Amino acid sequence: MHEFSLALGLVERLKELAQKHKAKQIDKVYIKWGKLSGVVIDSFIFSFNLIKEEYPILKNCEIVVNEEPITYKCLNCNFVFEKEDFKFPKCPKCDSIQVKQIKGDAFLIEKVEMEVDDENKKR
Ligand SMILES: [Zn+2]
Repeated sequence: MHEFSLALGLVERLKELAQKHKAKQIDKVYIKWGKLSGVVIDSFIFSFNLIKEEYPILKNCEIVVNEEPITYKCLNCNFVFEKEDFKFPKCPKCDSIQVKQIKGDAFLIEKVEMEVDDENKKR
């Protein structure tokens, strides 16, 4: 249950943030995620939704996933291209298989939206 502990980690992080900004509620968390991160995003969201029930400030919190496409750079001609999967990547420009994966393994918090007491502003 790798995803469950990651979700617990996120909850901890959000609690810290809420405390720091004196937020009464966290509305949305934007997660940047790539297929190569090794995180099963559906399990992660499922776990998070289970855990958040325990915390009033997170009860209505929604996870928004921004997928980072798997991106390669050709070492032969420097062409940068995206691919749906990671099976036998090949440069579409020069057909070289000498390519380097440069994106697609992200797993991080991009942005958090919360309701802050007094000023009524969102962050
Ligand atoms: Zn190339």
